[in-house]
Amino acid sequence: MATIVMKFGGTSVADIERIRHAARHVKREVDAGHKVCVVVSAMSGKTNELVALAREAAPVHDAREYDAIVASGEQVSAGLMSVVLQEMGVPARSFAGWQVPIETSDAHGSARITNIDPDLLFDRMNAGLVCVVTGFQGVSPHGRITTLGRGGSDTSAVAVAAAVDADRCDIYTDVDGVYTTDPRIVSKAQRIERISFEEMLEMASLGAKVLQTRSVELAMAKKVRLVVRSSFDDPDQVPALGENGDWQGPGTLVCDEDEIMEKQIVSGVTCAKSEAKITLRGVKDNPGVAAAVFGPLADAQIVVDMIVQNISDDGKSTDITFTIPDAEFDKALTVLKEAGETSLEFDSISGSKGGAKISVIGVGMRSHAGVAASMFRALSDKGINIQLITTSEIKTSVLIEEEYAELAVRALHTYYGLDIAEA
Ligand code: ASP
Ligand code: MG
Repeated sequence: MATIVMKFGGTSVADIERIRHAARHVKREVDAGHKVCVVVSAMSGKTNELVALAREAAPVHDAREYDAIVASGEQVSAGLMSVVLQEMGVPARSFAGWQVPIETSDAHGSARITNIDPDLLFDRMNAGLVCVVTGFQGVSPHGRITTLGRGGSDTSAVAVAAAVDADRCDIYTDVDGVYTTDPRIVSKAQRIERISFEEMLEMASLGAKVLQTRSVELAMAKKVRLVVRSSFDDPDQVPALGENGDWQGPGTLVCDEDEIMEKQIVSGVTCAKSEAKITLRGVKDNPGVAAAVFGPLADAQIVVDMIVQNISDDGKSTDITFTIPDAEFDKALTVLKEAGETSLEFDSISGSKGGAKISVIGVGMRSHAGVAASMFRALSDKGINIQLITTSEIKTSVLIEEEYAELAVRALHTYYGLDIAEA
C-alpha cells in the first residue's frame, strides 16, 4: 500500500461535474488500497473574482484580510470534493490550512510554508479517510490565515507530500504533461516522459507554466516525485499506482536524475518574451560598481535576469548590460539615472524593449561539449542575430529580437531532434 497526494487545479474542479470526474480518479487509488491526501485549488476563475472583490472594496487593503478573502475559494472546493467523494461511498473530510495545520511565515499574500505537522493527516488516513486539504493557504505564527502567492496550490501539494512522506505527488491539470516546448509554437512538440527536478526547475522558471517554480524547488529539496498528468483522462482507463509505487500511466514524471536512464543532451526549448535590455557604458571599474548598479534596482523590486559585464581595456571603465521585464524598463531607467546623480558614475545609458530570451535546457549538457556552439550555429543558419548570451551547467540562453522568437524555437527544436516523428 502506498501513500499518494493528488492535486487538482482550478480547471479540474471548475464545476460539480468536473469535481465528480476528479473524485473518480481519487476513488481509483482508494480502491487500489492506497492512502490518499487530496489537495485542491479554487474553482477556475474564483481566485481572480475574489482578488477583484478585495480591490473593489479598497484599492489599498489590509494584506491579512486580503488573504482571508482569497483563501475562501479553496475552502469551497475542498468541501465540495469531500461531499462528492462521500456520495461515491469514499469516506472523506476537508481540512482548511489552519486545521492541518500548515504553518507559514507571516508574509501575507506570499507566505512560505515553514512546517506541516502530519499527525492529524496520518491519523485520519489510518482511520480510512481521504483527507482533502485546501491548497494555497496556511496559518501564520499569529494565527492568521495566509496565502502562498498565485499558483501556490502546487507548492501546498508538494509540501503535504513531503510531510506525509508520500510515494508520489500527482498534479492533475488541463494538459497531459510537460512538453519539449510550447505546443502552440511548435506543433511537433512532444510530451516528455521523464524529466529531472533541475531541468523542470529551469523550464518552470523560464515560462513553462505547468508548475509553480517554488513547488519544483521544494520537490527537489525534499525529493518528492511528481507526476504532471491530465485530469481529463477517463479515470477507469488509466492504471492506479502499483503496490510498490510502480506505474505505467500517462503524464510526465519529474524525478531525480538517477531515475533517468537516457539523459537527453537537450530536453526542452523555452521562450520568454517581453524582455528589455539596458546597457551602461563607461562605468567606473572599481570594486563595488556592480553592487552600485544592481543594489538600487533590487531596492526598487526590479528583477534582473541576464547580466553581462565586460572586462575593461584600460582598467578604468567597463560596460554592463542586463535584462529586465519590458514592464520594468522605464522604472529601471529612472532608478539608474537617479543613481547616476549620486552613487554611480557612468558615461551613458541606453536600452530597448522587445527582446525574447530563448533557452535550451538539458542535464546532458554537463557531459557534452559544444552545445552552446551548436545552438549559435543553428540560429545563425536562420539569420538570427544574438544580442546576449548566458549559460549555466544545464542551460544556454540567448537574447534575440522578439519577432524572431518563434522561428528560433522551431529551428532549435528541430535541430536537437525533439520534433515528434511523423506517424
Ligand atoms: N487558487 C490559487 C490561484 O489561482 C492557487 C492555485 O490555484 O494554485 O492562484
Ligand atoms: Mg496552477
